[in-house]
Amino acid sequence: MTVLVEIDQWGEIIACICGNAPHKEGFYPCTPWGWETNLTYNNRLWRGHYRCASCGLTIRA
Ligand SMILES: [Zn+2]
Repeated sequence: MTVLVEIDQWGEIIACICGNAPHKEGFYPCTPWGWETNLTYNNRLWRGHYRCASCGLTIRA
């Protein structure tokens, strides 16, 4: 999947292609399959993916 978001040198998402940003609707962690996850209880499943809370795009950070 082509990553179309801006990511800074620390791998933090700056902005999604839809215009969402961390200080707007934000992003939440998800599995590679796009399921919302919880880093505390589900971190075995987490592979560095985020889901845009605005457009639903799955982002690999
Ligand atoms: Zn988006």
